[in-house]
Amino acid sequence: MKEIEKMGYLDGKGIPFSRADEKSDKKATREKKLKINKRACTKCMICYALCPEGAIQIKGGYPDIDYKKCNACFICLRECPDAAIEEISD
Ligand code: SF4
Ligand code: SF4
Repeated sequence: MKEIEKMGYLDGKGIPFSRADEKSDKKATREKKLKINKRACTKCMICYALCPEGAIQIKGGYPDIDYKKCNACFICLRECPDAAIEEISD
């Protein structure tokens, strides 16, 4: 948890900044997108199972993020066992 705080995803109470309010959710989604690295992905589908917004679908056997649904909570990025989810800039 401390490491994630250091990375800037959580505030001092363990709450993701992207969840602070609805407006910042949308801003964070626009400014920080996540991308699946298919070379690293082992298709475990943990990200698919954990996404609270149902924003991860399966396309061609790989997870695929629907940015319209994604709220940038970064749960998938944190929980991917193979570090196959990467943050990219718009
Ligand atoms: S959690 Fe990571 S390795 Fe597993 S399916 Fe998702 S991106 Fe691929
Ligand atoms: S960042 Fe959160 S909402 Fe977006 S795809 Fe990952 S788990 Fe789902």
